[in-house]
Amino acid sequence: SDKLLSIKDLYVIYETDEETVKAVNGISLEINKGETLGIVGETGAGKTTTALSIMRLLPKDIGKIIDGRIKFDEVDITTVTEADMRQIRGERISMIFQDPMTSLNPVLTIGEQIGEVIELHKNLNKENMQKKVEEMLELVGIPAQRKNEYPHQFSGGMKQRVVIAMALACDPELLIADEPTTALDVTIQAQVLDMMDELKQKLNTSMILITHDLGVVSQTCDKVAIMYAGEIIESGTAEDIYEGENHHPYTIGLFDSIPSLTKETARLSPIEGLMPDPTDLPTGCKFHPRCPKCMEKCKTEKPKDIVNGTHIIKCHLYNSQNCCG
Ligand code: SF4
Repeated sequence: SDKLLSIKDLYVIYETDEETVKAVNGISLEINKGETLGIVGETGAGKTTTALSIMRLLPKDIGKIIDGRIKFDEVDITTVTEADMRQIRGERISMIFQDPMTSLNPVLTIGEQIGEVIELHKNLNKENMQKKVEEMLELVGIPAQRKNEYPHQFSGGMKQRVVIAMALACDPELLIADEPTTALDVTIQAQVLDMMDELKQKLNTSMILITHDLGVVSQTCDKVAIMYAGEIIESGTAEDIYEGENHHPYTIGLFDSIPSLTKETARLSPIEGLMPDPTDLPTGCKFHPRCPKCMEKCKTEKPKDIVNGTHIIKCHLYNSQNCCG
């Protein structure tokens, strides 16, 4: 089948002697080959925890998958041995993080760093290795002759391109990018996103793009999942999310808080209130303390997923008759 990754009813906690943080609370999602999924939500929504679960890089002894399944191709990520997982990581799934500097070594040239990744996973002679390094640099829009330069000689946007080149050097089937452009200014952000979009089409890599900004993923993603307090509260195709009429009240709040380049004077309308305490989540709908549409039953009854074709909304405002237009 075309299915590359499927997550079913995943629950993840962070457990210490003092408290239990319920970070991911029963999410399900699927990604097909070549597809890009945007995972959107505020800090603390469970986006990064989801990514770390797929990579099986949850903080040791604290982060635990307590229920659910993650299947990557035919591999069950939740049960595979650590040795097999190490091979999958880097070879079949790569991840890039928000701050490129944390992934780059200041004392090695960028060519050496990209070379290291290739060396780990591919058996190439010196000459072919140099060729591959140059090819990767050009792929991300950096002139090949800059391979002998050090990270500090590159701008923020260029550094992030180097990191992307490293992540793609082993031809992964899935690339997970956690807020890859947040540290960059808006124009550079757009350039890097355009480039990622182009690369995805060229290489047919599947991608998970994690962001707090619903605007960022509109061009790049085939599918979008919006997370709140460890749940996916709305998901669908890009069309469902960006052109559909019905939305979860939280999604509407996210739309209202997209920074706009054109409306310079427009004030952002951030959603009032804060993400709930993950050690003590609200009853009923987890968004109810912040929801402008909150009804009595929202405080006690958990909303179910209302499914309409590809569009799913978890909210009592909708039922299977009136959801999603
Ligand atoms: Fe708001 Fe109720 Fe819908 Fe939750 S279920 S988002 S509280 S209307």
